[in-house]
Amino acid sequence: MNPEYILALHTDAKAFGDHQVVQEYCISIYVGSCHCGSVKFEFDHDEIVSGLRCNCSICIRKGAIMTAFTLSVDELQIDIENDSLSTYEFGSSVAKHHFCKNCGIYTFHQTMRKPGHYRVNIGCINGIDSTNLPFDVFDGASL
Ligand SMILES: [Zn+2]
Repeated sequence: MNPEYILALHTDAKAFGDHQVVQEYCISIYVGSCHCGSVKFEFDHDEIVSGLRCNCSICIRKGAIMTAFTLSVDELQIDIENDSLSTYEFGSSVAKHHFCKNCGIYTFHQTMRKPGHYRVNIGCINGIDSTNLPFDVFDGASL
């Protein structure tokens, strides 16, 4: 992984009896965009080491690897030029599948199980080789 910036190094220290366990982890700023750059986004998170794929009727067609975590509306900063962001909905219309009207790239979606929260297309994030990430498969087809 090669996130663009390391925001901070956090240290958690916990006491277990006579011992103290120190855990260090990094928070990074992740920056990304659609292909043409009309839709840009940014968020803070600890290192992305795995992704999530889904076998529902739309995700299986997109083939994207998404973040395994979700981000609230406040946590994902989105910058849209020329009114380029469009939204595709189907079925219950709870999930919102967002994509760039200009280049067609699917950048993020609002999840069905956690409305108002986003998963981001890892392939759109700068500095991450999404083809090299391990991933879990979510059984969206059975929902
Ligand atoms: Zn675009």
